[in-house]
Amino acid sequence: MIITNSQGQRLTTILQAVRPDWNEKGIVKALQDANKGEGLPAIDFDHAMRASVAYGTAKSRDGSYLKQTPLFVAQPGPHWDDTAPPGAGYQSAPPAWCEDHPTFNAHNCACCWADIRVGDRPDNMLGKRMIRQDDTPPGEPRMTIAEAKHQIKQMQATEFLGGSLHSKE
Ligand SMILES: [Zn+2]
Repeated sequence: MIITNSQGQRLTTILQAVRPDWNEKGIVKALQDANKGEGLPAIDFDHAMRASVAYGTAKSRDGSYLKQTPLFVAQPGPHWDDTAPPGAGYQSAPPAWCEDHPTFNAHNCACCWADIRVGDRPDNMLGKRMIRQDDTPPGEPRMTIAEAKHQIKQMQATEFLGGSLHSKE
């Protein structure tokens, strides 16, 4: 379901009311990104409002909030399945897979979270394809021979320095 501007504003207000810790930018981005694709997996706008509240208020077993970010509100999940109007022909969509780790769900990929924790991946790239700066297209050398020689020289210089410091002890 593609939502209108005013529907987007209402959903943003709802999500902000439910989760004051979420910033408006993230909520708006999640809704805009959904609109760029297939839209929300909603039967109607009432469904979208119920699902938004369900998403924001979902709790884990220890009583803490299950969802840490609004970014995945549009993704399929129990918040859509459990709030669908009965008899309206709603069909649960298959979960989206992580673009970088296709055996994991995009919204909670364990590999992505590990990257995020060590600072290797921005948290808005959870479940997304990420091009790293050191990614070299297959078949292309990672560095030129001149670069390699330069690096070897530097390494040798460092080793030499380390060796001489060590010998003074
Ligand atoms: Zn992943």
